[in-house]
Amino acid sequence: MGSEMCIRDRYMCKCCDSELFDSDTKFDAGCGWPSFYAPLENGAVINREDNTLGMRRIEVLCAKCDAHLGHVFPDGPEPTGLRYCMNSASLNLELS
Ligand SMILES: [Zn+2]
Repeated sequence: MGSEMCIRDRYMCKCCDSELFDSDTKFDAGCGWPSFYAPLENGAVINREDNTLGMRRIEVLCAKCDAHLGHVFPDGPEPTGLRYCMNSASLNLELS
């Protein structure tokens, strides 16, 4: 591989505009939601246990403004093994 294309789409919080994810860590989970295996930076999002609906899930919140973003599941690809399943209504997409 010679020159690598450096095109990244960025996903920001709809409420406060923090950059949360980018297309580098995006993958197709086949569920129709934007899925990522890692946030843009450690600390960009907060994980919180969510026991509603009788299920034990991990809710993902914006670290800056506490907006609900989606859930994280432990069945994602390497290197993290995580799947951040984001609600597309919570993110703004900025195309590079
Ligand atoms: Zn936010």
